[in-house]
Amino acid sequence: MKTTTEETAECWQCQMTFEWTHTDRFTPTPRLCAPCTADAIAANVSKARQATADEVRRQTPPRYQATDTKHPDFNLKLWKKIQSWSPTTDDSRPWLGLTGSTGKSKTRCVFLLLPEIALAMVRPLTTPDHIPPIPSIAVVTGYEFAELVHDQFADDSKAAAKKKLSRLRKADVLLIDDLGKQRNTPAVAKELFALLDHRHAANLATLWTANATPESIVAGMDADLAAPLAGRIRECSHIINIS
Ligand SMILES: [Zn+2]
Repeated sequence: MKTTTEETAECWQCQMTFEWTHTDRFTPTPRLCAPCTADAIAANVSKARQATADEVRRQTPPRYQATDTKHPDFNLKLWKKIQSWSPTTDDSRPWLGLTGSTGKSKTRCVFLLLPEIALAMVRPLTTPDHIPPIPSIAVVTGYEFAELVHDQFADDSKAAAKKKLSRLRKADVLLIDDLGKQRNTPAVAKELFALLDHRHAANLATLWTANATPESIVAGMDADLAAPLAGRIRECSHIINIS
């Protein structure tokens, strides 16, 4: 018994007649020939990449939007080291941490890396009908994080704070700048643990900067949270120390 049938159709794009294989009677007639399908998929990818780049830009503070990597003060050596990292190079360490106290180059470099990480997440779909999903991106500083935790308990800012905290948990890429600058009250410690625990379990890319080691990030927390949290950060992160 014959299970497939060769059919012909006319491409909506280039009007050429093309052959396609009818596997069962439910297979819809393709609208496009193979070359036009490939073009449409590529065009959708480029739309998704543009939307991703726009989103990264919206999330990037103006002072880090235009970084001249050829400027003599730019830390090119550090940038090359950072660029060689991607969340997929080493699946067991999907996070990148930059530690050290050298001025603003950590933050500058991490914001420079953000579009590269986000754009690499845009993958072509197999059909030409949809634009690939745009990765969600969230950015927060250690200070802002602590503020959000406290705002959850204030009547006028409760809803917005909870919404932003939920975005931080779920974002495909999260950038936490100046982690460790927050004051680790019990509420902040608990929320930071929950955030990082969720992102670890869901294997979500996380970029962070801190002035010192993971142990300093958890300073002031109760011992039952501090040691496991510092351990989790170490275990998940590829850490580059800038001395
Ligand atoms: Zn065609």
